[in-house]
Amino acid sequence: LFIVFEGGDGAGKSTQVALAQQWLRKQGSEVITTREPGGTQISEALRSLVLEHGHGEIDSRTEALIYSAARAAHVQQVITPALARGAHVICDRFVDSSLAYQGMGRALGFDAVASINDFATNGLKPDLTIILDISAADGRARRIVAGGGVEAADRLEAEPDDFHERIRQAFLELAAREPARYLVLDANSSVEDLHQSITEHLAGLL
Ligand code: C5P
Repeated sequence: LFIVFEGGDGAGKSTQVALAQQWLRKQGSEVITTREPGGTQISEALRSLVLEHGHGEIDSRTEALIYSAARAAHVQQVITPALARGAHVICDRFVDSSLAYQGMGRALGFDAVASINDFATNGLKPDLTIILDISAADGRARRIVAGGGVEAADRLEAEPDDFHERIRQAFLELAAREPARYLVLDANSSVEDLHQSITEHLAGLL
């Protein structure tokens, strides 16, 4: 299975990714966990590049191309080979983050961002995308409590709530388009309840 976690900053993806990984391993298969932007040496270098430079320095189209270039390397070097040998892959963010952040957040539009990503991924789609849905205000509060990712803090803390609200709406719209491939959960639920909903859903797919 190829499983992707998506959600706004502060939604608690990394906690659920780690718990899902533990649970899937107990089911007896090889599981690899990876993240975007990142996941290969080249992709991590591109992550640093795009996260260290503010939006003022990198225009939206360049940003979208850097994310998709990082994704192309990640898909070819890590995700596709793992799936081919029968491993499960859990990925923290994938194409939908680009559709949400660059497509809607940076207003490039879904279609343009989808087309460069189809090229980058060679059409690879997740079997399941889990959206941890969080409002802009709750996300902000949780990023402050958590201390946030330092790099992310530099870049995206400066964005107003309406930017984060566009991201949220984009994830919900993507899920509504293909409900069979999505699981949308309220990120305000407890860690345990979220994990339980996720494992119930995964058990149905295995
Ligand atoms: O999820 P993580 O915190 O690792 O993501 C790093 C940062 O990159 C986040 O602040 C996220 O909002 C941003 N990002 C983005 N566009 C993407 C993917 C991530 O702006 N396509």
